[in-house]
Amino acid sequence: MIWLVGWKTVIKGLWQGLYTCRRCLGRYPHDLQERTEWGTLFFVPLVPLRRERLLTCHNCGFVTRLSRADAERFPGVEQKK
Ligand SMILES: [Zn+2]
Repeated sequence: MIWLVGWKTVIKGLWQGLYTCRRCLGRYPHDLQERTEWGTLFFVPLVPLRRERLLTCHNCGFVTRLSRADAERFPGVEQKK
């Protein structure tokens, strides 16, 4: 029997809004995304391998990696216990 094992990245939008960029120092639109890398079996995501939350500035493209606690401070981002 052949086992089809692989991985897949799923991107989920968590928040969009104005935020002060750490690089260009202006208040510009930002996207907060959660990227989860899943281990798959027969193309079905089964095990989360890596999860990161990235805040991207629309003006300069600067990306900041946030901890889960920092991401949960944004309005509308649900808190996981
Ligand atoms: Zn910026």
